[in-house]
Amino acid sequence: MKRVYTFGNGKAEGRADMKNLLGGKGANLAEMNLIGVPVPPGFTITTEVCTTYTQQGKEAVVKEIKGDVEKAIAHIESLTGTKFGDASNPLLVSVRSGARVSMPGMMDTVLNLGMNDDAVEAIAKKSGNARFAWDSYRRFVQMYGDVVLGMKPKTKEDIDPFEEVMDKVKEAKGIKSDTELQVEDLKELVKLFKAAVKENTGKDFPASPWEQLWGAICAVFDSWMNERAILYRRMNQIPEEWGTAVNVQAMVFGNMGNTSATGVAFTRDAATGEDIFNGEYLINAQGEDVVAGVRTPQQITLEGSRRWAALQGISEEERATKYPSLEEAMPECAKALIETQQKLEDYFKDMQDLEFTIQDGKLWLLQTRNGKRTGAAMVKIAMDMLRAGIIDEKTALKRMEAQKLDELLHPVFDKDAIKRVKVVAKGLPASPGAATGQIVFFADDAEAWAEKRKKVIMVRIETSPEDLRGMSVAQGILTARGGMTSHAAVVARGMGKCCVSGAGEIKVDYKARTVEMGGKVYKEGDWISLNGSTGDVYDGQVPTVDADMSGDFAAIMNLAEKYTRVDVRTNADTPRDAAVARKFGAKGIGLCRTEHMFFEGDRIKAMREMILSKDEEGRRHALDKLLPMQRSDFEGIFEAMDGLGVTIRLLDPPLHEFVPHQLATQKELAEEMGMSIDEVKLACDALEEFNPMLGHRGCRLGCTYPEITEMQARAIIEAALNVKAKGIDVHPEIMVPLVGVVEELRMQAEVIHRTAAQVFEERGDTVAYKVGTMIEVPRAAVTADQIAEVADFFSFGTNDLTQMTFGYSRDDAGKFLKIYKEKGILKTDPFEVLDQKGVGQLVRMGVEKGRSTKPSLKVGICGEHGGEPSSVKFCAKLGMNYVSCSPYRVPIARVAAAQAAIEDTL
Ligand code: PEP
Ligand code: MG
Repeated sequence: MKRVYTFGNGKAEGRADMKNLLGGKGANLAEMNLIGVPVPPGFTITTEVCTTYTQQGKEAVVKEIKGDVEKAIAHIESLTGTKFGDASNPLLVSVRSGARVSMPGMMDTVLNLGMNDDAVEAIAKKSGNARFAWDSYRRFVQMYGDVVLGMKPKTKEDIDPFEEVMDKVKEAKGIKSDTELQVEDLKELVKLFKAAVKENTGKDFPASPWEQLWGAICAVFDSWMNERAILYRRMNQIPEEWGTAVNVQAMVFGNMGNTSATGVAFTRDAATGEDIFNGEYLINAQGEDVVAGVRTPQQITLEGSRRWAALQGISEEERATKYPSLEEAMPECAKALIETQQKLEDYFKDMQDLEFTIQDGKLWLLQTRNGKRTGAAMVKIAMDMLRAGIIDEKTALKRMEAQKLDELLHPVFDKDAIKRVKVVAKGLPASPGAATGQIVFFADDAEAWAEKRKKVIMVRIETSPEDLRGMSVAQGILTARGGMTSHAAVVARGMGKCCVSGAGEIKVDYKARTVEMGGKVYKEGDWISLNGSTGDVYDGQVPTVDADMSGDFAAIMNLAEKYTRVDVRTNADTPRDAAVARKFGAKGIGLCRTEHMFFEGDRIKAMREMILSKDEEGRRHALDKLLPMQRSDFEGIFEAMDGLGVTIRLLDPPLHEFVPHQLATQKELAEEMGMSIDEVKLACDALEEFNPMLGHRGCRLGCTYPEITEMQARAIIEAALNVKAKGIDVHPEIMVPLVGVVEELRMQAEVIHRTAAQVFEERGDTVAYKVGTMIEVPRAAVTADQIAEVADFFSFGTNDLTQMTFGYSRDDAGKFLKIYKEKGILKTDPFEVLDQKGVGQLVRMGVEKGRSTKPSLKVGICGEHGGEPSSVKFCAKLGMNYVSCSPYRVPIARVAAAQAAIEDTL
């Protein structure tokens, strides 16, 4: 098994399609060599080695790859003419992680490795720049101390020992900025940093480059299992087994003086998708400086620079002198970079996210990958590339991360309201969207507040990977520092979160928990709003309006329509929801939960009267009151769904959900019903169940009180006839819930057919209707062949089916599922993502057995999984006729369904 792959000087052992083995970064570094893009030579240790590392530990791995790594270092030495650990011409390398998919800022990196007391002198001499050499050395000791020797602060209260030393030295010298440090100061810092290492770890800082290298390689492997990386993987559903590769590369320096620079760039705009090359750089800096948000990065293109200055309120004169573009500062290098970015995008046929370094006037590429983008950018880039003939329709559809479409469906700020509110600060439009929330400053507060269902906006000077938890629950993120490629911006775009970054004029005081903006001091808990599309920050809460669904979004939906073989329906209980879903392309209603209709206004009273009635006569009396209300609800829904199927489910929840549990409301009810309070209490208590979810609910209600089914069937059929009379094309489908035994369905179907026949007779008119069932009890799936004898259709209720297959209560599982996921017992929450291996097998059995009895049986799914992309694909591949989901997930399901069809034909 090959474990180490080398690259350099236009040759490479790996290729772009080897991402699983070499990680995204390693595979593309190899490919860039092959297509003639300048890349510093190096090698990649495979992801398989990471897996071995996690399983067998450090010693086993070092032994296994030692020879290969030594050979690979010799390969770099021969290409660069340097030598690892050499006193006169030393090789310095970078050591970076690189998983299959990018995990920005989650894992560790070490730069300038190979530095020691001899190497620093040699590099000072060779570069003629002692300051650069010593600055590189002190950065190395600091980074190595933090990353490899575990000196990075663990909590926000802990102080970074290196920062402490640095602050002391700066204070003693009376200087503010790192760039003012002289060679002697840097030498002093190296000494003090090493002393801090000794004090913290009890050991001398390792001088041997080989010892340094193994330490760094192992630290990268260790970082795969750090808390941040684990959280990121969980949020993005990246399996632990993938592991990370390690990339070791000859260093090139962006901090060798004013003819050197480093930067990051996107071949298109990652926020809007516009075809504009954009990016940021810093002269005389090392890679981490640009993304860390400590210095204000400058724009690469002149056009971008002018746009940036306008947003920041900086004059042209100030811009040109203080923040010139790369095109102005280093025109030759900018030209080379612009050519290279085009070459890379043309080659990879997707928007690229690049890292580059200019060392003494020569451009080097350190990374290229498909750039993270917002939902809007995802749609626009795919459609633009399709129209330009760069990719085909299927590729455009496959490029959709279906879940991300969600960002495009949600409201934006009301244009008129925006005109009236005060802009209190301006930053960069780092990630679009409209966010309103209460200010918090720390990730743990964001989490705690969000748990209490508060909407929060995280305000930070700058963000770091530690803030990820907070960012993930916040409505939006506002930072004082950092550009469009800062950690906050990149991560927010990846999450589809609204973000305004680099709002330079805001003054954040973490200690006082305040932020000063637009002349006002905002405290923790105060409301602000962020416009991630313009970079504006507003005072207070700003109202929003619905998003625009035309243009490229509509084009993607049309493409989905062209390829899909599964209809997408919606779960909707009101005409309004039904209309929204129809606008999103729903082909009918897959689940109308009738119980929600019983809670409004006077209805709950009639419902309670029905429940508390002592006999059938009492129940019928109350049901008579409910009938017209239900009928008019159904009419509204049928009208909204003119021409499409509407599946209406009969009453499902346990009855005690409808009765009052508080004394005051029980008293009220007693008065209304002319009963004593004791009688009411007794009746309510009698409805209490130990396991209501497994109790008297679903068709068990209809089987014990057939008059309820009768009323509902009558309301549906009468409503259908009423709207039919208005010329509306109506297709009612009556669905019986929670069937486990075919007799239950047979009995309910008999009531429904009898009632329908009666209504037809009364009205002298008929309408076609269907009677089907939900498959949500495991026994129903197992006996689906029998059930299909009675049912016209099946709809899989995978919420209950998951509950009963796992034996996890839907209401109580939250307590332990979180821990199960943390411990890796479950990879995902089975109530969110269909458990294909378990619950999915029951679904498969249900479909197959049902169709063995009735080959034309219509089958769908209406559990929450009907809007989750991987579950939609599973259902599509089982040959279901439709999936049904909540209105806002309809577009997501449509794209996932089309992708399933495309994958099937490949
Ligand atoms: C289900 O169980 O999957 C379902 C759709 O029904 P409910 O969520 O209403 O129980
Ligand atoms: Mg159910």
